[in-house]
Amino acid sequence: MARVDKPVLGTRQCPDCGESGSIHLAAGKRGSLYQRCGCGCRQENGRMMQSRFYYEAEWRPDCKPDAPANVYPLEEYREKLAALHERNRAAVGQPDRESQQSREVAPVSETGNEPVTKPDFIPEEKPEAEPENSKKGLIWLGAGLGLIAAIVGAA
Ligand SMILES: [Zn+2]
Repeated sequence: MARVDKPVLGTRQCPDCGESGSIHLAAGKRGSLYQRCGCGCRQENGRMMQSRFYYEAEWRPDCKPDAPANVYPLEEYREKLAALHERNRAAVGQPDRESQQSREVAPVSETGNEPVTKPDFIPEEKPEAEPENSKKGLIWLGAGLGLIAAIVGAA
């Protein structure tokens, strides 16, 4: 599947991968634009992406194509872009509450009667296998102790 790129009509700094992508005119009647950059081949056909390709590209001399059919008028595009940036800022500014919570709830022994310690038989070189095992071990140990306590208590 050989794929030959259309001629480069311009370039556009890709806000996602940071590369200077090349802008091409896609085949077809719609006159859609697509971009090649570190993201790969970006051929989002939605109005916003087509508008961004069209308005944000630096066109090579005499290479500026007609606007794709679904491109927003410039004013509308600017408003939408501003709204988009506002949303992005809000999203990035949000503190990651979930991960903060899980950090605050430290994994101390949930039963409260067994200290969380590393079992001696687990070698230091394999730290990645340790947490799961020691946790399971403690749970079983706790369950066993609880069972013994119940038996002793019942006797
Ligand atoms: Zn990119």
